[in-house]
Amino acid sequence: MTASRQAPLATLRRIANSRPAPVTAERCEMCAETVAERHQHVVNLRSRALMCTCRACYLLFTDPAAELRYRAVPDRYLSFPDFRLDPARWDEWQIPVGLAFLFTNSAADRTVVFYPGPAGATESELPVDAWEAVTATNPALRVLAPDVEALLIRAPGARVGDGFACHLVPVDVCYELVGLLRRTWRGFDGGQEARARLTEFFAMVAARSRPAS
Ligand SMILES: [Zn+2]
Ligand SMILES: [Zn+2]
Repeated sequence: MTASRQAPLATLRRIANSRPAPVTAERCEMCAETVAERHQHVVNLRSRALMCTCRACYLLFTDPAAELRYRAVPDRYLSFPDFRLDPARWDEWQIPVGLAFLFTNSAADRTVVFYPGPAGATESELPVDAWEAVTATNPALRVLAPDVEALLIRAPGARVGDGFACHLVPVDVCYELVGLLRRTWRGFDGGQEARARLTEFFAMVAARSRPAS
């Protein structure tokens, strides 16, 4: 039986069973307090590791101007309805799939592009001026916070009139997406299940996003 002909309940169960395991056993990685399954994260700016936190620990690291080793991952989602990207530039990035995320690493002082696939996230070699060129065309993207937020860029679909879509998302959501695709990716293009999960993922991002001013 193909996935599309399965009963909705079976499909739901399959999704529930393949949920990512919590990064820790429901404990704050800073103070060992119990946390709910849905909880917040901070980034360790030296190791780049994502840490599960309770609300109290999370709040210690929300000031983006503080000189701290950890930084709280904000929960904002933004859309950029006027986003423009030259298809020639996208080709230059050599992304083999229809999806990429951009992320600024403050320690290395550079912006990198990753794309998800069967091996997890792969970094693409970016021309040095790539980020400057994209923000010159789209100054609204400069709100991107280093280390804790990412820009998710989706290439146009097959429909006539589609353009590149761009959203700003919390960086922990990108980790979730990468894990999800690693578990479901089949073959060259990801296959039916990975594509279905991506569609769900983009629907969630679109529902949570408000337009960037
Ligand atoms: Zn804590
Ligand atoms: Zn966590």
